[in-house]
Order: sequence, then C-alpha cells, then structure tokens
Amino acid sequence: MTPQFTDRVSRVSPSATLAISNKASQLEADGVDVVDLSVGEPDFDTPQNIKDAATEAMEAGNTGYTPTSGIPQLKEAIAAKLADDGIPCETENVMVTPGGKQALFEVFQTLIQEGDEVVLLDPAWVSYEAMVKIAGGDLKRVDTAAHDFRLEPALADLEETVSDDTTILVVNSPGNPHGIVYSDEALEAVRDLAVEHDFMVISDEIYKEITYDGIEMTSLGSLDGMEDRTITVNGFSKAYAMTGWRLGYFAAPEEITSEAGKIHGHSVSCAVNFVQHAGVEALQNTDDAVAEMADAFEDRRDMLLAEFADRGVDVTKPEGAFYMMLPVADDDQAWCERAIDEAHVATVPGSAFGTPGYARVSYANSKERLQEAVSRLDEHDLL
Ligand code: PMP
Ligand code: GLU
Repeated sequence: MTPQFTDRVSRVSPSATLAISNKASQLEADGVDVVDLSVGEPDFDTPQNIKDAATEAMEAGNTGYTPTSGIPQLKEAIAAKLADDGIPCETENVMVTPGGKQALFEVFQTLIQEGDEVVLLDPAWVSYEAMVKIAGGDLKRVDTAAHDFRLEPALADLEETVSDDTTILVVNSPGNPHGIVYSDEALEAVRDLAVEHDFMVISDEIYKEITYDGIEMTSLGSLDGMEDRTITVNGFSKAYAMTGWRLGYFAAPEEITSEAGKIHGHSVSCAVNFVQHAGVEALQNTDDAVAEMADAFEDRRDMLLAEFADRGVDVTKPEGAFYMMLPVADDDQAWCERAIDEAHVATVPGSAFGTPGYARVSYANSKERLQEAVSRLDEHDLL
C-alpha cells in the first residue's frame, strides 16, 4: 500500500540539528574521530543530587501516571521560580511537559489556526519553523544577523513586520543559535508592540540560567502589561544537563494552560513521574552546580573567541547559552559538509536557522576538543 501523507507532515523537514548530530554519531560508530560541535547538549553529567532524587522517587514507588499537568510539588517549585523572576504565576498557570519542545508544540497547537501569522526573529532555533508549519501557521521573519543578532537595531524592521494580523511573536533570549541576551529596552519595545497590536509572545527562556559577564536576562513576562499575553517556556535540559530526561514546562494565562491540557492529556498523558520528582530537586538544590557549569561554558567561550580572533575571524561574542555563529562562506551548507567530511568537525549551517553565511558552533565540549576543532578547520583552510 502506498501511504498518503498529510500536508502537515509534508510541510516540514527533519530537524537539522539532530540530523547532523546523527551523522556525527554514525561517523564515530564507523571509527572516525569527529569533534561534534553540532547539537546543543551540555557535555556534563546530570548533577548527582538530581539523579539521587530520581532514584529515591522511583524506589518509593512513584512510577505511575501523575496528574496531567504535573505533580503539585513540581508545579509549586516552578511557580515559585517564575515568581522570583518577576512573572506572576500560580500552579494553575503551569503545565509540566516531557521537554521544552513538547511545551512549545502544545502551545502552537493550542493557539495557531490555519493561516495565522507567527513572527520569528532570525536566526531562530530550527524547531520553531517546523512547529508553526505543522500547526498551519504562516511565518514572517525579521533578520537580526546584520545587527550582530541584537534586537534594538532590528526594531524598525519588527515594527514594520508585525500588524493586527499577528497572532504570536516568538522571543528566545539568550538565543539559540547566537547567544545574545536581549536588552530590557528591546524587550520593552516588544511589549509595546504586543500591546498595540494585541498579540501573544512566546518567551523561550530555556537558556536563562546560562549567562556570562554578570549579565542577567529579564523575563518578558515580568514586564508590566505582559502578564496576560506571555507564555513562558522553559526546560531542564540545558541548565541542569538533563537532555535525556525530557522535562520542561510552560506557564501561561490559566485558560490557555487549561485548553492546552486537552492536547497534552490526549498525547503524552503526563511527564515521567520520578523525573518530575527529580525536577523539584533540580529547581530547589542545584544552584551551585548550575553556576559551575555556566562558568565552564564562559571559559570555553573566551578560549574559542580568542582562537578564532588569532586566525582573523571575528565572531559576535555570545552573552549566554553555549552557541556562537561563525561567519563562513556564502554557501554555508557546503562549508558545513566540508567541515564534517574533510576536517571531521560537525557544525550546523546557519541557513537551518534562517541565516545563511554562518555555521553554528556549540561549545558544549571540552577545551581540548574545541582547540582540536579550530586546528582542524584551520588545517583544512576552512577559517
Ligand atoms: N528551545 C530552544 C531554543 C532550544 O535550543 C531547545 C533545545 N532542544 C529547546 C527549546 C527544547 O529543549 P528540550 O526539549 O530538550 O527541553
Ligand atoms: N536545542 C538543541 C540544538 O539546537 C538540541 C537539538 C534540538 O532539539 O534541536 O541543538
């Protein structure tokens, strides 16, 4: 039988970040020594106290379904964290999900009708586009690459792009793939536009805990006027090195959380029970380990920027997350293919994020391996 595929699935391509990471893993399985700077995954193990909390919870019999929106203890811990960040939040606003990705997916499925307009700030993480397309939304994109990925200089373009037809704007700061932290001035301008044109903003704050040089990121949902038009998305993958645990959440006005709960209940039922218990421990007792990991990323950032600068390559300095955008040839796809095939260094083409001419480098790797990557790229005339 020839299967007939839906428009929904035909509209999207596989995740570029995961595809390249899979290719790197395949090459490694074939015996090739690849420096994998493709996927955004901390190279640290999950802190021990979090693992212990999961084991204890499992041993105590927390292995069944939980309430769909999450266990009360975790929802309370999340609401307390968001309140600390200045976001008005009660447990009724919180939905615990298997990963930040699932949180975003549910929000788009809940709020986007066929043909609704969604605005992205490019370069934007690969899965926003795919999720919007699956939901049937129409994308409009505002490019920040010409402005060193900052939002203030791109505000005039944003103002021209949004309109009363805009349903959602997606903001991701610190940003994947560039690591820039949007200024308060830029976020206030976003707020003013959202209020003027009456649209919702999804604020993806999954890298909020990983910032450098003493910079702190303001949560969009903490700004006056944003309390009923912000959906804050976060997850445990990055800050707590918990990618494989699959735990995330969103917080939104109660009626949105409740409607999204239908999609959640009919698709995933709930996040894994003992993983949710580990999430409570992560939020409440892991500040030191998070700070140590952030310091290590900052150190690697500095080393990598210096290595590129020594070779005459000027890279915009990330202020958070663990990515940087390396300017490469116009044909960034061909550059990335040469980098992996010839130098055995895996990176992701900027065009996957809507911004050709760059390769995204994830520096969630040891300093030795980062140095090795730079040497290899240099030897193969890729810098
Ligand atoms: N948002 C951004 C910007 C990301 O880079 C990621 C990484 N996968 C996610 C959300 C989702 O992460 P996860 O599903 O592992 O929580
Ligand atoms: N967010 C990470 C990245 O951009 C993990 C892979 C993914 O989910 O896309 O590489």
